Amino acid sequence: AKKVGRANHQFFAPAMNAAAGARLALERALRQALENQEFELHYQPKVDVASGAVVAMEALLRWRCPQRGMVPPSDFIGVSEEIGLIIPLGAWVLREACRQNRAWQLAGMAHLRMAVNLSAYQFRQKDLPEFVAAVLKETGMDASCLELEVTESVVMHNPAEAAQILDRLHAQGIHISVDDFGTGYSSLSYLKQFRLDTLKIDRSFVRDISSDADDAAIVRSVIALAHSLRLQVIAEGVETEEQLAYLRELGCDQYQGYLRSKPLPAAQFEALLRSGAAD
Ligand code: C2E
Ligand code: CA
Ligand code: CA
Ligand code: CA
Repeated sequence: AKKVGRANHQFFAPAMNAAAGARLALERALRQALENQEFELHYQPKVDVASGAVVAMEALLRWRCPQRGMVPPSDFIGVSEEIGLIIPLGAWVLREACRQNRAWQLAGMAHLRMAVNLSAYQFRQKDLPEFVAAVLKETGMDASCLELEVTESVVMHNPAEAAQILDRLHAQGIHISVDDFGTGYSSLSYLKQFRLDTLKIDRSFVRDISSDADDAAIVRSVIALAHSLRLQVIAEGVETEEQLAYLRELGCDQYQGYLRSKPLPAAQFEALLRSGAAD
């Protein structure tokens, strides 16, 4: 058995070295990427279900890597968190999103809210509320135009501290959304502890809403729960008219998804807003 083990070890060693090498190369490329300005934000509209108007947008991070092409966040956010890059990267995202939103406002476009995703690591920075306030001041964007999206696990990591941070963000007039609602912790008690504005129903519940009675029941319940707590509800991942019709029927306030638009580079998003698709 010992002999086999050694043979296996020899067999796997090169593959493991290759994986470790690839990981190191990724880390190195990521560290350079911020400096080389390889990151960009794409924007996806948030749409009012009743009127069809674009009422907000979500900034979604992309890495345009010269060697790897366009890299989705699922391939680099985790590594960025592990190597601590997420703090400067998250700061860049917030600044760029606020700068862009303010630029659109100054160009005479409707004042829409800009939603930014926050990593758990950013949320654990004690000075997050002050940092956000400084970025708003620097970019000239009104706090009421900023929305921060946090997942349940982000706030449940340290509920007492999270409640305080959310209070301090909320006090500035910033809108808070719970992202991927329903996929994290099962306890709902945090909904009354935290200052929240919107629950964002994860796309896993939306996908089969028209064919799966259980998914429809969950969405119906989340909408009822949210409304009785005076929270808004937005559904993500809406791809078909049929899904939208169900959500309208169930009283969902807003939706986001490929049905209206994929996340778009700034210039294309601007064109979408100007084309009147916003109304
Ligand atoms: P998320 O916040 O839940 O974002 C929704 C994801 O669903 C986005 O993927 C979006 O492109 C995609 N999506 C939107 N509409 C549809 C649809 O109709 N159908 C389908 N199949 N997908 C749709 P994306 O852009 O790849 O982002 C993935 C995740 O990466 C995000 O999930 C978020 O957790 C994270 N992320 C993105 N940008 C940032 C960022 O700036 N900071 C941090 N910390 N995380 C980010
Ligand atoms: Ca999000
Ligand atoms: Ca999601
Ligand atoms: Ca998410």
